[in-house]
Amino acid sequence: MPVPLRPRCASTLCSVMRPLVDGFGRVHRDLRISVTDRCNFRCGYCMPAEGLEWVPRDDLLTFEEIERVARLLVERHGVESIRLTGGEPTVRANLPHLVGMLAGLPADLALTTNGSTLRLLARRLADAGLRRINVSLDSLRTDRFAELTLRDELPKVLDGIDAAIEVGFDPVKVNVVVMRGVNDDEIVDFARFGRERGVVVRFIEFMPLDADEAWNVRSVVSQEEIVAAIGAVFPLEAIERTSAPATRFRYTDGGGEVGVVASVTRKFCDSCDRIRLTADGQFRNCLFAVDEFDVKAALRSGAVDDELSAVFEAAVTAKWAGHGIGQVNFIRPSRSMSQIGG
Ligand code: SAM
Ligand code: SF4
Repeated sequence: MPVPLRPRCASTLCSVMRPLVDGFGRVHRDLRISVTDRCNFRCGYCMPAEGLEWVPRDDLLTFEEIERVARLLVERHGVESIRLTGGEPTVRANLPHLVGMLAGLPADLALTTNGSTLRLLARRLADAGLRRINVSLDSLRTDRFAELTLRDELPKVLDGIDAAIEVGFDPVKVNVVVMRGVNDDEIVDFARFGRERGVVVRFIEFMPLDADEAWNVRSVVSQEEIVAAIGAVFPLEAIERTSAPATRFRYTDGGGEVGVVASVTRKFCDSCDRIRLTADGQFRNCLFAVDEFDVKAALRSGAVDDELSAVFEAAVTAKWAGHGIGQVNFIRPSRSMSQIGG
């Protein structure tokens, strides 16, 4: 008879907790759900100008399917945080309805978006129960923004960030992918932007997931370089490391904080607790995973909860120690970030 671990909910679904522990002892508590592979932007590192071959609508998980998977992962497998992403999650119709379905689960719920429709959606998302939001923005310059995204929509994104602040999302974070020779001259501008608007800017090292294969090791601007550039203007001190992937720093003058996600130069695979569900219902144990586990097929063939749990557990058991970006044996995933879910 199994020994009951941390009983957590009263539902008959989950009388016994079954944490998702891999072969390296890592316990998986952070779930990324991609709700669509489509996007209204065309960031060169993520999607080609002509777009990609979109997943047919019937192959997208329905909201009910997403909710069932999320509920089981939270209630039976101990997942504690859920982030909705994409593609661009706000292009999926009725996103606030899905937020409402997930907001009642005992897990922290967040959204990553390009921000372009937030002025229209922020209030509805907040009313549905969303509390935390990350907006991706790689340039504060109108022309460069248009070049990077192939959309002339910087004012909309800035207005979307203001809308997110106004409805009270806390925190509002701004994610900046730093690319050498592309936008690394804006690091200090972004730091200033974060301080002035009261948002947490998180700089992300460029990863080899780009659609146009522009990535190479030299295109990565390291955490060390980013922190040195900011610190020369706004002195920083490190905040004690938490389990979050971002290394956090505070401004010594009390001007807030800034983070760096050093996925390439200080990879955090040793403490990785992330699992992912793609928009077409594939379960992934790593952003860079080569194999996927078919949750959609299980759902649509009438699987009971134990059978779904078996898919999650097989995926987590198969998780590798970590990615090998920059090493000769590194294999680029066959899907881009927009298809996997960032
Ligand atoms: N469309 C939404 C957005 O842009 O925030 C959500 C999906 S997007 C794929 C999620 C995050 O992945 C964004 O912050 C984006 O900048 C980041 N991303 C995409 N490709 C990347 C790459 N090659 N390296 C680092 N970050 C990347
Ligand atoms: Fe769209 Fe986000 Fe990819 Fe840019 S990074 S193309 S906004 S999914």
